[in-house]
Amino acid sequence: MDTSQQFPSLRVITHPLVQHKLSILRDRQTPTKIFKELVEEIAMLMAYEATAELEMEEVPVETPLEPMVGRQISGKKMTLVPILRAGLGMVEGIYQLVPNARIGHVGLYRDHDTLEPVDYYFKVPADAGERDFFLLDPMLATGGSAVAAVESLKRAGARSVRFLCLVAAPEGVARLAGTHPDVLIFCASLDRELNAQGYILPGLGDAGDRLFGTR
Ligand code: URA
Repeated sequence: MDTSQQFPSLRVITHPLVQHKLSILRDRQTPTKIFKELVEEIAMLMAYEATAELEMEEVPVETPLEPMVGRQISGKKMTLVPILRAGLGMVEGIYQLVPNARIGHVGLYRDHDTLEPVDYYFKVPADAGERDFFLLDPMLATGGSAVAAVESLKRAGARSVRFLCLVAAPEGVARLAGTHPDVLIFCASLDRELNAQGYILPGLGDAGDRLFGTR
């Protein structure tokens, strides 16, 4: 995992499995079924890294031979929050790793003219202050949706938020990290730039359309 001097809250996951799968994901020829499977697999591998710093506590365990003290993830409960709709593609892979996680939802879409997020749905567990939130969106482009989603979570009481995306643009990282420096950002790639339409270059196209076959 690489950290960045330019963006101290950014973690780029350089693991070969993640990078290999990301290259297939970017390929315009990759069909919807494979694209969906790859998003799940990459999200799972990223979650392995993104959960590495979760607090642990000791727990008594009786093995078949003797009592011992094991370790478990402590206190705060993990909550996955996909930003609709493309974030949904990342839920299943992480859920397989952490089946006790709760799942919230944030509904935001990007206005194609202003490129600003429009909020239409928000639901997370009530005890937000006690939870570790993992906000999910495959693409961190302008950062508008990410900033708005973090603000909604914090308004609901969240104090621990991580942001997981597959591909990030420098513009989006700058906006999210500048507004919420407490939010760790995990991505598989920090790409070159945004184009005039708000797409990431080289990117992978419209993640939602490619996930759900709506192009
Ligand atoms: N959303 C996408 O799906 N792709 C981009 O490149 C930017 C935003």
